[in-house]
Order: sequence, then structure tokens, then C-alpha cells
Amino acid sequence: LDRLRGRLSRSQNAVGKSLLGLLGGGDLDEDSWEEVEDTLLIADLGSATTTKIVDRLREEMAARTIRTEAEARGLLKEVLVDALRPELDRSIRILPHGDRPSVTLVVGVNGTGKTTTTGKLARVLVADGRRVLLGAADTFRAAAADQLQTWAERVGAEVVRGREGADPASVAFDAVSRGIELGVDSVLIDTAGRLHTKTGLMDELGKVKRVVEKKAPVDEVLLVLDATIGQNGLAQARVFADVVDITGVVLTKLDGTAKGGIVFQVQHELGVPVKLVGLGEGADHLAPFEPNAFVDALL
Ligand code: GDP
Repeated sequence: LDRLRGRLSRSQNAVGKSLLGLLGGGDLDEDSWEEVEDTLLIADLGSATTTKIVDRLREEMAARTIRTEAEARGLLKEVLVDALRPELDRSIRILPHGDRPSVTLVVGVNGTGKTTTTGKLARVLVADGRRVLLGAADTFRAAAADQLQTWAERVGAEVVRGREGADPASVAFDAVSRGIELGVDSVLIDTAGRLHTKTGLMDELGKVKRVVEKKAPVDEVLLVLDATIGQNGLAQARVFADVVDITGVVLTKLDGTAKGGIVFQVQHELGVPVKLVGLGEGADHLAPFEPNAFVDALL
């Protein structure tokens, strides 16, 4: 928790402080409620989630006595944790099943942190004694495959890459085939994230998944979202959710923003759990997302 708190930006903690300040004084006038609302909106919780949270806070404030900051903290914790949908299943299926490796597709728009997240995940698995194979299915940018290969060498994972311009689905298929041949525990496939046209993306990602499934079931489709881009993140999530069944979200760059509110929105609107958060560029800066710990770090 201390690590999480340390890595959440100062401005993010300021959101918690300002909410505590507003609610800790007891009865709020309309101006103060507006301030609560603005604070949530500025933190990127979006209007639907904000309205829900404010309504619930008003109800609870009317029903019980909140006079101190400690009481406000208790109430806020309850309401915010609830809004983070603690009931969603956040387990990650990246361990092998009997005699076959688990297969994970990592999807998202370029620049969100897909390759870095793939590398970090590989690192966690290798540190746990697992054998990992990384598939570089972003064949449009040679630099992307190079970057993934660097991660593979750094953490001690196998890598399969195709020629530049090769069919991403065939590289993904080769990666899974090779993973099965080598008897690795986990195959993690980094995909291309060009969002020029939705149909192009749909064809490509859909095809990658279909082709891979000829070889082995896909266990996880992790959507990587950049926490610093606010509402655009939600728009991206909608597009990807239309194209492929997302099993979980990885919210990156949470260390550099006061706009972590997207974590509430994605779960609310798409019903997809945030499973992991990126808290920095380093290999160790990946943590499971846990609603309780997240709200504790905020408040
Ligand atoms: P991709 O194009 O989606 O594969 O994105 P990359 O993995 O290349 O990441 C883009 C940039 O974001 C790189 O400079 C990464 O170091 C950086 N990055 C990725 N995750 C995080 C994170 O959790 N925190 C911070 N601060 N930077 C990150």
C-alpha cells in the first residue's frame, strides 16, 4: 500500500484530500456539493459515475451523522470502493493449464504502454519460475518488435517475431505454436494498435484471435489504457470492446496523473474489471488492481 501511495501522483492524493475536506465538516450546502461534483469530474470520473457517487454520498450524509474527517473517510471509502465494483473477478489467467501454455493477447492503442506491460508481465512470471514466450504481432513497426525483443532478453523470455509487414495473425499463430513446442507456461502476444479505422482494427484483431484459437484457447485479452488521456480512454475502450471480448483492463501511467478516474468509468460502463495498474516505466512498476488498496491510497 505504501508503494502504491508513493507512486500515485501528488495531485491524485489531492483529490482525496479535497473530498475529505469538503465532507469532513458535516452538513454541506449546495455550493459545497457542487465542489464535490467538480472534484470528481476533474479527476475524470465522467458525469454518469460522478452523479451516482454524489447521489449516494448525499443519501448517506442525510442518513447518518458525519462530523469529523475520520467519519468522512469511512463514508468516502465505502462509497468509492463500491463504485470500483469490488465484486468483479480480477484474477488473471496467465498460468498454464495442464499441458498447454496460457495465451494472453495484449491489445490497445499505440503509445498506451502495451509493450512495456507485456514485458513487465513476463518479468513477474519469470521471477516466479515460469517459462514465457513473447509474440511480437505488431509487425507494422519494426521498432515495436525490437522493443519487445529487448524486454525478452532483459527478463529471460523467448521471443517470436515476424518479418516487418508480415501478417500479425500468422506471427501470433507461430508464437503460440512455438510456445506449445517449447513447453512454455505462458505465451504473451503484443498486438498492433493502429486505430485509423475501426473496421481495419476489427478485421485485424478479430483475425488474430480467431487464428490463434485454431491452436489454443485465448485465456486473457488485456486492454491497455493510458490513464493520462482521460475521456479518450473510455472511447478507446468502447471501440476495443466492440471488436473483441476484453477480459481485463491494464491502466498504465497512473503514476503521472490526477486523472485516474477512468478506472471508475471503464468498470461502470463496460463492466470489465481493471486487473492491473502501471505505476511507472520500470520493470517492477506493475501491480494488481485492488479497489480497497486503491481507495486507501487516495484517502
Ligand atoms: P505501446 O506503443 O503501447 O507498446 O507503448 P510502450 O510500451 O512503448 O509505452 C509507451 C511509453 O509509455 C514508454 O515510454 C513507456 O516507458 C511508457 N510507460 C508505459 N507504462 C507506463 C507506466 O505505467 N507509467 C509511466 N510513467 N510510463 C509508462
